[in-house]
Amino acid sequence: MSENKDITNIANRLAKTQNNIELIAKKFNRATNSVQLMAVSKTKPNEDVEAAYQQGQRIFGENYAQELANKASQLAHLKDIEWHYIGPIQSNKTKIIAQAANWIDSLDRIKIAKRLNQHGEELNKVINVLIQVNISNSETKSGVAVEDVDDFAEALSELPYIQLRGLMAIPDKKDDIGQIKNEFLTMKTCYHALQQQYKQIDTLSLGMSGDIEPAIECGSTLVRIGTAIFGARN
Ligand SMILES: *Cc1c(COP(=O)(O)O)cnc(C)c1O
Repeated sequence: MSENKDITNIANRLAKTQNNIELIAKKFNRATNSVQLMAVSKTKPNEDVEAAYQQGQRIFGENYAQELANKASQLAHLKDIEWHYIGPIQSNKTKIIAQAANWIDSLDRIKIAKRLNQHGEELNKVINVLIQVNISNSETKSGVAVEDVDDFAEALSELPYIQLRGLMAIPDKKDDIGQIKNEFLTMKTCYHALQQQYKQIDTLSLGMSGDIEPAIECGSTLVRIGTAIFGARN
């Protein structure tokens, strides 16, 4: 049956992805357990998430607020699953994101952070966040400018239901590995500076299917992989 075939494919692709991460970590003298894998399941059905979960995958990423909310409630029986929201955050969606997500990795506006803090208080839930950094300085990409990260982190430290855990970035250019690596190195520096100031900082999310190697080389602790695990999206 095609469903069983899909599940076998996901198990195989997941194992291959984990193996790849281990090989790259070894290459750069990093402990294999220092790089975690987020399975990006956006647009994919619940069965695909369950298939990956059955193989031991626990961290999942979603880009669309309503889709995250639906999956989180329909898959509530999957214990200790960890949902990360990694998409753009609209003001009118902050509540459902705060309810469904364990982590929000794409935070880049104080106004949004304050709303999330309010929801956290109402839900009695501390929300883990990453600051999304506009590493390529592009006008279209979301994210906080590198030079503004300090001020942003300081503002977050005043919100009791927001727990800053680190940084996330998405490079603009997908084909220029030299530039991507430079940008990742800037992220590494920025991350270490943040760690000096706040003791709870433990997550640097860099790397997708196409740039996982420079990401791990530059210290990523959480790579975000969709296509390589679940196949192409429609
Ligand atoms: C979709 C997405 C990914 C996964 O991308 P793939 O190319 O499918 O591996 C990772 N990070 C973010 C922020 C995404 O939106």
